Amino acid sequence: MSTQSKKVMVIGGGIAGLTAAWELAGLGAQVALVEKADFLGGNAIQYACKATDECRQCGACAVESMLKNVVNEPAISVYLATEVAGIDKNGNFKVGLKKSDAARDTKACESGYTANPTGCAAVKGYSLNNAKYYLADGSLNPETTGSADSLEVDAVVVATGFTPFDPQIKSTYRYKELENVVSGMDLEAGKRANGTVLRPSDGQPPKKVAFVQCVGSRDERLGNLWCSQVCCPYALRTAQSMKYKDPELDITVFYMDIQNTGNDFPVFYQQCKDEMKFVRNIPVDMYKTDDDRIRTRYMAAEGNSEAVEDVFDLVVLSVGIMPGADNASLSETVGAPLNDDGFFACADKLNRALTGQEGIFVAGTASGPKTIAESIVHAGQSAGEVMKYLGRAS
Ligand SMILES: Cc1cc2nc3c(=O)[nH]c(=O)nc-3n(C[C@H](O)[C@H](O)[C@H](O)COP(=O)(O)OP(=O)(O)OC[C@H]3O[C@@H](n4cnc5c(N)ncnc54)[C@H](O)[C@@H]3O)c2cc1C
Ligand code: SF4
Ligand code: SF4
Repeated sequence: MSTQSKKVMVIGGGIAGLTAAWELAGLGAQVALVEKADFLGGNAIQYACKATDECRQCGACAVESMLKNVVNEPAISVYLATEVAGIDKNGNFKVGLKKSDAARDTKACESGYTANPTGCAAVKGYSLNNAKYYLADGSLNPETTGSADSLEVDAVVVATGFTPFDPQIKSTYRYKELENVVSGMDLEAGKRANGTVLRPSDGQPPKKVAFVQCVGSRDERLGNLWCSQVCCPYALRTAQSMKYKDPELDITVFYMDIQNTGNDFPVFYQQCKDEMKFVRNIPVDMYKTDDDRIRTRYMAAEGNSEAVEDVFDLVVLSVGIMPGADNASLSETVGAPLNDDGFFACADKLNRALTGQEGIFVAGTASGPKTIAESIVHAGQSAGEVMKYLGRAS
């Protein structure tokens, strides 16, 4: 059998899964893209553009482009609100599928699906612009999504992504209790929906903002020792785009270390230091003032035990990348091990698409923190490895 007639299942429809599916289809495979949520695009579909007078290369718009490719590709069948129930390997893989919890919402509005896709749960999670695009383009329709109890495939790519850290676990930040303490995810989604950053309590633009880095990552008490790699770049790029929009905006970044954001990092970091205040200390307790602002205390400087108090209109918790919620169960189902941190282990340091289980590959943040650009590259590598494997198996 030639690789042209091979079938591959990609589990997870974030940027990694979309890219893997698209690359595999381009290489001649028939692809089943199985997504647990009732929309495609994963976490990154809700991120905002961070351009100032120029593109800051945050990668967010790459997700929409890939989404467009995938829904228009006839060799890719999309299974929304669907999960893997079990896998039997007997030559190829027989994969049992079941509807996920998200299916309930989708079903409730099935009748309005074609007539009013923007009002339907099937497109929940898309930005306003993206929803309009789909409405005008007509690409997302019932024919592009499928449903099945089981499928037979020759290889599987696990691209189930990550879970953003839940700041409620760090209770002293009083996330969800104080309206003007938000997470990095909230900030992205709000900026994308409103086109600008607004304070949740009164819908007004903030004048003084704090970013608190390393929330959930590099935290010994939580046992999360890894650096999430993406929270410095996203926080600083967002802060810079906010400052570009409002040069009077007062921004303080509380940090332990700043992660290198790429080739342009020294210039970019210097620009940020010129425009914002950096404090190498992480504040702990947050209090609400009578006028709905957030008061916090921190040590003035390293080695200086003097506590300083400051008040902000908005505090942004730069949450990190945690292992996907289904990693443990999925690892058992597909027979691919996890590493000590709970991400899918890469069997070969030089070939990070391999899981050690024959025919099962991994792509994107399912195997650990990555940016959008890195997830795209990893997914491309995984697709290439799948085709090599299928070539050997045929
Ligand atoms: C607050 C925040 C801001 C960020 N901003 C940026 C940025 O500006 N630029 C940048 O480069 N990176 C950014 N990142 C990182 C970026 O989010 C990731 O690089 C990217 O989302 C990884 O894509 P992924 O496909 O691996 O995972 P995900 O985006 O997590 O997608 C995984 C998909 O798999 C699905 N899934 C999960 N489990 C199952 C299952 N059992 N069955 C079927 N489907 C399943 C999920 O529903 C989801 O759709 C940010 C991260 C955070 C936390
Ligand atoms: S979304 Fe990011 S990569 Fe795209 S134009 Fe805006 S800044 Fe540039
Ligand atoms: S990327 Fe920055 S904020 Fe995120 S864990 Fe690493 S050092 Fe901390």
